[in-house]
Amino acid sequence: MLKTKAPIHFDNSYARLPSQFYTRQNPVPVSAPSLIKINHTLAQKLNIDSTWLESNEGVSTIAGNIVPDGGDPIATVYAGHQFGMWSPQLGDGRAILLGEILDNQKERYDFQLKGSGPTPYSRGGDGRAPLGPILREYIVSEAMASLHISTTRILAAAATGDHVYRQNILPGAILVRIAKSHIRIGTFEFFYSRDDQESLKILINHVIKRHYPEATNNENPVLAMLDAVIRSQAHLISSWQRIGFIHGVMNTDNMLLSGETIDYGPCAFMDTFNPGAVFSSIDHNGRYAYNKQPAIGCWNLMQLAQTLIPFLDNNRERAIKLAQDALDKYMNLLTESYQTGMMMKLGLRHNMRGDIKLTKDLLDIMAKDKMDYTLTFRYLSDLAGNDTKTNIGTLIICSEKFNYWLKIWKKRLAKSTQSPKKRQTEMYTLNPAFIPRNHLIEEAIKAAVENKDFNLFHQLIDVVKQPFEYQAALEKYARAPRPEQIVHETFCGT
Ligand code: AMP
Ligand code: MG
Repeated sequence: MLKTKAPIHFDNSYARLPSQFYTRQNPVPVSAPSLIKINHTLAQKLNIDSTWLESNEGVSTIAGNIVPDGGDPIATVYAGHQFGMWSPQLGDGRAILLGEILDNQKERYDFQLKGSGPTPYSRGGDGRAPLGPILREYIVSEAMASLHISTTRILAAAATGDHVYRQNILPGAILVRIAKSHIRIGTFEFFYSRDDQESLKILINHVIKRHYPEATNNENPVLAMLDAVIRSQAHLISSWQRIGFIHGVMNTDNMLLSGETIDYGPCAFMDTFNPGAVFSSIDHNGRYAYNKQPAIGCWNLMQLAQTLIPFLDNNRERAIKLAQDALDKYMNLLTESYQTGMMMKLGLRHNMRGDIKLTKDLLDIMAKDKMDYTLTFRYLSDLAGNDTKTNIGTLIICSEKFNYWLKIWKKRLAKSTQSPKKRQTEMYTLNPAFIPRNHLIEEAIKAAVENKDFNLFHQLIDVVKQPFEYQAALEKYARAPRPEQIVHETFCGT
């Protein structure tokens, strides 16, 4: 493999861990790399020169045809519970961690290629990714970042010039994923299931140093780490619930210790509000339905906590009690974060009696009337000020029940000391006008895959990057799908 001097400064802490954590593996070159898109804002944050990324050498790096100087390509190993079933051996089967970089604030990030060829963990898979799922991950993760939800992000995507063979023959693509790390609950489970205490200890120290350094000041740093992970998962999942996001595949190998969202396979943003919504084509029992996400988060954290028992206390009974007490805090943290966030979405800053019921009543009406989740909250933001200039109200149908609820809500707002103008401005920063709607994503992917037309893809990203800035000219992107446009199922990208 050709090595090249590139303006990326790697510092590969994971590759410095002992060899049982990964296998050294170069990406497998592709035929004809061509650039699809570069995330210029992210490149700047990461101190990576966009002009270089766009150069032949940059594109060859994105596609895995060259490894920049300082890169130390590895495929990491992990295990995991997939749909509740134990998978003892997983790992980066179609991804390569090229190395780690430090951003402008000296924060550490993984620079990972996805779709870069087979590795020892491919389990018979080809290690490649079709273009569609790559575009999907780019659009949705960029939307999530713009909605201020903790997420892995895409630095760049390139077409490979090769085909991948699934049910159809599809164009192949690769993306560069940026994450605070790719350490998963499944990484802990891998060593725990092999009773490898020494590796677990190394992993715990690595995670504390990298993600939760303040835990070292605690008299029980491992417990402090567990507490911090529980907090970050509670926060993350409550932010999904508030925005109407369904992850779709919350297996323990898809849950990061950093608290970032990862794996945009069969995910979806809800159009009409439906608490039991499931989109994933492989989630037959609705294990990962929208309203089950909070509880599944807890189930996943229990798997993590179990791997930490020997490190929480020398006395097993006491260790189990500590883990249990830590887990017991999760649901309260999540509920509190969710309820506070929902009140803010309704323009209610100070909790008054009846506020929780008001929120619940609204959601009940929305579910019954099949109201669009995003548009309803955006419409409320329009109504919360004195002057409404947008036309969101024309995009939703309001039932009598909803109109009655509006009256009660307005009475409640009248008790607030906040000025309507200020309230509205705040609500506009919490209730997006634009989300990456499933039908728009599909339309953009179809044009790219079938006609090599990437215009819709680029346009959609431009729109979701400014989710809170409504413009009438972009009404098409705000609208709920027409019945024939509704997407009922989403697919994982394998
Ligand atoms: P995911 O559904 O993306 O979370 O992947 C689950 C596991 O399957 C991970 O270990 C992946 O690396 C692996 N995998 C998914 N797709 C492929 C592929 N095309 N080739 C090889 N391994 C894959
Ligand atoms: Mg995964």
